[in-house]
Parts: sequence; C-alpha cells; structure tokens
Amino acid sequence: MSSTLFQATGFKRTLLLCREGKFREAEAVLKSLQDEFLAVCEENEALKTQLQEVAAVLDLAEKVRFDGQKYWLADGDEKKGPYCQVCYDREGLLVNLQQRENHWECLSCRGLYMIPAKNGAPKKRPAALRTALKKTIPLFVEREMM
Ligand SMILES: [Zn+2]
Repeated sequence: MSSTLFQATGFKRTLLLCREGKFREAEAVLKSLQDEFLAVCEENEALKTQLQEVAAVLDLAEKVRFDGQKYWLADGDEKKGPYCQVCYDREGLLVNLQQRENHWECLSCRGLYMIPAKNGAPKKRPAALRTALKKTIPLFVEREMM
C-alpha cells in the first residue's frame, strides 16, 4: 500500500470535508492520517537502524584481513586477532581464537588452527631423542592381503 498516496488523498479529503462543514468526518480522516504518519515514522527509524548496521558491517569488512588461515583486524597500525575463519564466514562474527601450545582454538565452533613453525633456526632436538624418533613405528601400517 502506498502511504504517500494515502496521505496525499487523505489531506485533500480532510480539506474538502472542512469546507463542506463536515467536521466529524474530517476528524476521523485526520485520526487515520495520524496513525499512518506514526507507522511511517516507526518504519523510518527501523530503516535508519538497519542502514547503520549495514554500514558497520561494511566498515568491518574493510578492516578484516585473511592470512590464508585465520582473520585479523587491521585498525590503523594496530593488528587484532586472530579470529576464527569459519565463524566469520558463516555468521559474520569475529570470534577470538584461544592460543594453545601448538594451535589456536575457536571456543565457539571448536575449530583448530595450527600455529605455523617459526622461520628462525629450528630447535635442535637432543641427540638421544633424535635417534629414538628414527625408530618410531610407522603411523600407517599396510593391511595384509586377505
Ligand atoms: Zn569458530
């Protein structure tokens, strides 16, 4: 329904009714015009709020950086994060990842992100441990033919 059209015709009708001295009818039309006006105001407020939300999402999207695994927020020189890729892609939510020893964990979707090895010199394992590792059992044992 076109509220603008309704108001335009409503105002004119009220004017005509007043000129004809039909004040009761004019009053009734004015009352419905007021209701219509209040509804339009409410709708306008809702649209304004919606617009602000969309602007906030767009603003956020501009600051979000993807490192191939997780998201970071670039706020000026400050870098915040990391945030869960799955949660942001799915819900648009920036969920902070919790750092563990070798990985980051999302407490929302329980997703795990490996912490990449540092580029610096790799830590040397003690000699005894290194030889022990050579003798470890293979992870995948081939099944015997039936
Ligand atoms: Zn997540």
